[in-house]
Amino acid sequence: MNVFIGTDSGATTSKTGGVWADGSVISTELAQSNTCAADGTEAVIQGWVAGAKKFLQRNQLSWGQVMGFGLALPGPYLQYGILGPSANLPKNFAGWNFYEDYKQALQKEAGREISLVVGNDGRYGGIAEARALRTTPHDRSTVLMLAPGSGLGCSFIKEDGLPLEGDMLSGTELAHTPAPLHLLNIPALRCGCGRDWGCYEAYTSISGLTQLLDIYLPKHPGHILEQQENTKTSCLALRDLAQEGDALALDIFNCQARAVGYLVATMARVFDPTHIVIGGGLMDPASTTKVFREQYLHVLWETAKPYLDTPQRANIQVHPASLGELSQAIGAALMALLKNTE
Ligand SMILES: [Zn+2]
Repeated sequence: MNVFIGTDSGATTSKTGGVWADGSVISTELAQSNTCAADGTEAVIQGWVAGAKKFLQRNQLSWGQVMGFGLALPGPYLQYGILGPSANLPKNFAGWNFYEDYKQALQKEAGREISLVVGNDGRYGGIAEARALRTTPHDRSTVLMLAPGSGLGCSFIKEDGLPLEGDMLSGTELAHTPAPLHLLNIPALRCGCGRDWGCYEAYTSISGLTQLLDIYLPKHPGHILEQQENTKTSCLALRDLAQEGDALALDIFNCQARAVGYLVATMARVFDPTHIVIGGGLMDPASTTKVFREQYLHVLWETAKPYLDTPQRANIQVHPASLGELSQAIGAALMALLKNTE
């Protein structure tokens, strides 16, 4: 059977996944390769190709079966397939036409032209989660996915299974819209994007944790983190502390869950989705307890509920993500499939 392959390019590691022509997942075992960004764009392309070759080999597939490729790469983009200045990649990567370079490298490997689609990693993750949620081929219910990790990945999947991408591929970039600070009762935090209006990303992801710790630590005198320098590493300890019921850690994650709740309520006004999927490390069964995940989703939903219409309150379903770190590579492969059959 024919296949579609997806590459999920992170700043340090790239992952490869794939789907059969009917959309089912080929393997839940991802092929990993180094992104090698420090060695330049050519090395990055070679890393992606190496990941694809490894995936095909491992699953006893040939290039002859490959009908299309998808690539998930965090933006911002200058235009389709051309990278803008990115915080996580070397400065000279700005302006890089990664679409053209990857397409040519794939053509060289396959000995023929292979179609390629490229897009934002957060958007592509939503495609895979939506596919996993829709139980029948006639199910066209829409999905809003929010994945707080190092940043806040956001995706809205339309009736046709495709993400809303916008004209400049910047659509659904909810991470950098303002949170209701008067309701969170918190000052405007700094955000890596430079906007000063209190971006949701700062209140919901690892990116703003040091600032949240500065705010919450004085409310818990004598806490063990008082002795430590407030760095990203000490912030990551908060996740473990929360699993043990630590009051400071729970305060901070409650604040994050409330912030995501307000975003859910706001986006329910815009999109009116049936499914809300929450992804990211906090929903990963390997790193948090069931009790913690349920409590986080409970706070999120109780925060959102008063702002929803009555029919929405009854209809909307909140789910933890089911595919974990698979979602973006699988989503990229699904995007290639969906574009192929359009
Ligand atoms: Zn921002």
